[in-house]
Amino acid sequence: MNSIPRFSHYRCCLCGKEYSPDQVFYNCLVDGGNLDIILDIPTIRKNNSREAILSSAETSLWRYLPLLPVADPGYHGTPLRLAGGTPLLHPLPLEKKLGLHTLWIKDEGKNPSASFKDRASAVVVARAREIQASTVVTASTGNAGAALACMSAAVGQPAVIFAPKSAPPAKVAQLLVFGAKVILVDGNYDSAFDLTVQAAEEFGWYCRNTGYNPFTVEGKKSAAFEIWEQVLHHRTSNKPLVLFVSVGDGNIISGLHKGFKDLLELGWIEQMPRIMGVQSSGSAAIANAFFAGDEQIIPVQANTLADSISVDLPRDGVRAVRAARQTGGTYLLVEDDAILQAIATLGKVGIFAEPAGATAFAGLQLAVMNGLVTAEDDVLVMNTGNGLKDIRAAMQAVSPAPVIDPDMKSLKKYLGV
Ligand SMILES: *Cc1c(COP(=O)(O)O)cnc(C)c1O
Ligand SMILES: [Zn+2]
Repeated sequence: MNSIPRFSHYRCCLCGKEYSPDQVFYNCLVDGGNLDIILDIPTIRKNNSREAILSSAETSLWRYLPLLPVADPGYHGTPLRLAGGTPLLHPLPLEKKLGLHTLWIKDEGKNPSASFKDRASAVVVARAREIQASTVVTASTGNAGAALACMSAAVGQPAVIFAPKSAPPAKVAQLLVFGAKVILVDGNYDSAFDLTVQAAEEFGWYCRNTGYNPFTVEGKKSAAFEIWEQVLHHRTSNKPLVLFVSVGDGNIISGLHKGFKDLLELGWIEQMPRIMGVQSSGSAAIANAFFAGDEQIIPVQANTLADSISVDLPRDGVRAVRAARQTGGTYLLVEDDAILQAIATLGKVGIFAEPAGATAFAGLQLAVMNGLVTAEDDVLVMNTGNGLKDIRAAMQAVSPAPVIDPDMKSLKKYLGV
């Protein structure tokens, strides 16, 4: 059954136009809408049992290979085989403090390049090998680029990364260390995005851009499969799981939604989780469309310290609006101060999140305050990125450490004893 192509067709999320697997690479040729990759679910169901997947020895996202639109890429023993398979934490002090039935945190900072983006980049690089792309390229606020650079390094695939010159230094360091050709743009993420699309077109590079390349969502949906295995598969409650995720371009939330839709279609789950998108109030284009009750995404002038979700024009906004709307979820807007506080709160249970990662938890705190989740709810919060990615922001979330002379007298003076 592993014959190429591994999916039946693409379908535009706006106009519904369908394309064959070899007809297009990126968005709809008519209206620029994001393309969904449509799997051949009856065939998958016929050839795969959920028991086989549940008992797979593979611990990375490649355990879901039968549900992914690429062939087995190989490269065992490389970071490509380490994307996904992230731990689920159960922080009791926070669960108690928020008065929830159960609180889980899924720590995507444990991915090979320390963010959720590795899921997308692993699958895009597998696709790039399939179509024998010479060079892969992406625009990135940092994490997508680091993930693409990491996965490309793993398989010896040349990679070019465009990032805004304001990207946090740790992210730029990752790009450089992974050996990508790194080009910093004197502009914001959106201008880097547009330049990348033009460069890819002119030079024949394969473009990973979020909300442009349909395979990113297919990689990201693997997190939904893991949530199925780690939580949904065992749960007895008949209330839907409530899932909190931070949103910038809207591709992670769309990926999670796609994963749960695939599972529903396979008949492996009966109920969708309620998907709650959290944006910074300084970068709220998708939440604005959600609250306006439509799908028209109007660009904003993004201004937030959570660089990974700082986006003027989200490239996957329509599907991101639908992810919340079609699952009984909603959007929440949090201030930068609340994001910094959430970094400190998560830190106290041993979880180190970058600002965009802590944003989802800040959204949960707001939702508890507003009564959107209650004591009967089971809640899962995604931490999408590791705090080491952005030390500048982390230091803003905590008070500085004192400096003392190295003697007992100074120590006692400082301790007040
Ligand atoms: C990219 C990213 C997000 C947001 O994902 P989108 O697909 O842009 O909505 C959130 N958190 C982190 C750490 C990210 O890198
Ligand atoms: Zn279309």
